[in-house]
Amino acid sequence: MYKILMVNVDEICLKGRNRDTFWNKLDAHIRSVLKVYQFSPTSKYKCYRDDLRYIIEIFGDDYFNQNTLDALVKIPGIYSILLARKTALDFEKLVQEVFVELDELKEKGLFGQKIKTFKVNTKRAYKRFSMDSNGISRELGHLILERYNSKSEVIKVDLHNPELVILVRVLSGGIYFSTKTLYGIGGLPTGVSGRVLTLLSGGFDSPVASYLMFKRGIEQSFIFFHAYPFVANEVVDKVIEIVKKLAPYQSRSILYVVPFGDIQGSIAKICKPEYRTMLFRRYMIECATILAREIEAEALVTGDSIGQVASQTLSNLALIDRGSEISIFRPLIGFNKLEIINLARKIGTFDISVIPQDDACTLLAYKHPVTKPYRDYWDKFNSSTEDEMNVKLKECLQNSRIMRVDWRGNVYNVNNVNCSNVAETIIQEKLK
Ligand code: ATP
Ligand code: MG
Repeated sequence: MYKILMVNVDEICLKGRNRDTFWNKLDAHIRSVLKVYQFSPTSKYKCYRDDLRYIIEIFGDDYFNQNTLDALVKIPGIYSILLARKTALDFEKLVQEVFVELDELKEKGLFGQKIKTFKVNTKRAYKRFSMDSNGISRELGHLILERYNSKSEVIKVDLHNPELVILVRVLSGGIYFSTKTLYGIGGLPTGVSGRVLTLLSGGFDSPVASYLMFKRGIEQSFIFFHAYPFVANEVVDKVIEIVKKLAPYQSRSILYVVPFGDIQGSIAKICKPEYRTMLFRRYMIECATILAREIEAEALVTGDSIGQVASQTLSNLALIDRGSEISIFRPLIGFNKLEIINLARKIGTFDISVIPQDDACTLLAYKHPVTKPYRDYWDKFNSSTEDEMNVKLKECLQNSRIMRVDWRGNVYNVNNVNCSNVAETIIQEKLK
């Protein structure tokens, strides 16, 4: 039951004169979470900065609820959140309040069992306070030992690897202390680094790639190429579920589901079979580039990792890049599959990605896809189909299904299939 959160920021600390821009983005994101989850009519909250810390205090009968905490730890830019209590600038009062909190742990039978070692870590930003940091840590540590150490419940100070850390922060407005820290995802606040369009498939990789971009303060829209009728509609539900897991990292996510089966079918009919997967990828990139331009996304993001599959050899990636005039970011390029899977578990997309799905690239793929493509064949194929493909790509974009997912995971259909003009829809969406 906490009424104070002390937010420690990550890379905002490294910023210079433009630091306020970063703070403002973070502040807006935090406030949007509080607005939805801390809505008790009897409570009021105050958010303010104290030097490099951001403090949220609730007044009245309300406490921070679990939904708020779960949402706050996903906000990019936050390094950690201390669930804190506050006392006046008075050491005696601090000791009393710390004892209240530690008494709760004692009542739960934690001392001497789960908690055998502890340390006090103090930082004093308010230099006029009568005791210095070391003095506070030493004196408080001593009083804790006196009160809680006994023959049956032995506890000791361990400065290197303690089981309980009591953080004390002396600021000008009071002394804050905390025994519980939640860790965030760090990085930069959402929106400070621009916007990209992320190519999301139902697999393990692309959601993890997206998560890594969120950490860098990037806003994202998502595009999924649906190979209907080669694959069923269920795969779209799977991708929506994945977007719901990614949505909490920003305030609003848009997913474009592009009907791509027709294009894949016609490519498969006319190209050499070993080039199919590569050509599917190439046209996905070209189509995503057209959309990115319309929605003012500055780059594309994919879940490629070098050598993972045949389409991800150096030569093939270089060739695919030629289908796009804008940058393609591949944050997983040097990741091993196991590292990707571990991150997928951490962000909660593993259980969705693991569900088997039909994949047109696999269904239509050739057993031995090309790994070192011939430029001549590639260029000839592309120039002979250019006009036809241009028309087809625009057509399939116009037939996209567009969905908006808010950060709580609610999904809204912006427009159903057969919308006549994607760009227009997006503009209307922006005006809302
Ligand atoms: P993932 O890489 O997400 O696990 P995957 O392994 O099935 O899915 P790859 O063949 O590795 O996909 O494709 C490489 C990248 O190309 C994906 O990470 C994704 O960014 C993009 N991609 C592939 N298929 C699609 C699709 N149907 N829609 C959107 N993007 C796709
Ligand atoms: Mg992959």
